[in-house]
Amino acid sequence: MAVLRQVAEGVLIHESEFCQSNAVVVQGRAGVLLIDPGVHGYEMACLANDLSDSGQTVVAGFSTHPHWDHLLWHARLGAAPRYGTARCAAIVRDLLSDARWKDRIAQWIPPDIADEVPLDLLGLITGLPAEMAQIPWDGPQARIIEHQGHAPGHAALLIAERGVLVAGDMLSDVLIPMLDLNDTADPIEDYLAALRLLEGVASDVDVLIPGHGSTGGADQVHARIDQDRAYVQALRDAHVPIDPRVGPSAAYGKDWLPGVHERQLQRLAQRSERGGTPG
Ligand SMILES: [Zn+2]
Repeated sequence: MAVLRQVAEGVLIHESEFCQSNAVVVQGRAGVLLIDPGVHGYEMACLANDLSDSGQTVVAGFSTHPHWDHLLWHARLGAAPRYGTARCAAIVRDLLSDARWKDRIAQWIPPDIADEVPLDLLGLITGLPAEMAQIPWDGPQARIIEHQGHAPGHAALLIAERGVLVAGDMLSDVLIPMLDLNDTADPIEDYLAALRLLEGVASDVDVLIPGHGSTGGADQVHARIDQDRAYVQALRDAHVPIDPRVGPSAAYGKDWLPGVHERQLQRLAQRSERGGTPG
């Protein structure tokens, strides 16, 4: 059974059972670029089958950011170079240098799927220097749009030739913005700056692919940017956000997303109590 679905010319996705995660395949001249391959081992194996059935090999990989569900890999996907931003790679290198890294990662993985998540090839990525504006590969130009906000070294990819924005963990229709509250002096402003950066390329986008959730058309790009900005501003101003993703009619994550929202509010309140200066 084919798992890949075309969303734009030469761009296909596979949606995982876990958290509606999207793996993205971009067809190049000699093989494909694979972005955030997936979560369950069997899903990545299916993806590898789909590719080999259509005579394609993976010639490059990319992880949008240093969170476990974006760093996985499967042996059947081959040994192509895998990339991330320099900052993303540095965070992962630091993680992997701890002899107990698998235990550290395991805390984040829901116990019911832990057995299905292969960790052996996690995070074996090469950092691309900050001045490198695009992924080095033989295919449609994939421009790296690095920003802070969700995670250090997070990058969206703009594949302008295909009108595609791979947004990483930004601009989801199901997940609220999840702020990086650990690595940054001003998480709110970082997130707002990231949204401005994405807004700057919005006119090039016909298909938006978030790391989790549904793809969107051109009309969705500004709508999702506005929705995320409104949420982050509500967090900043300690207002109750009117956001359908954590509202009573939310179709996804009812049992855990409101808790994420509450924790973000609390953490931000604690930060401002510590003397008004962020950090
Ligand atoms: Zn993430």
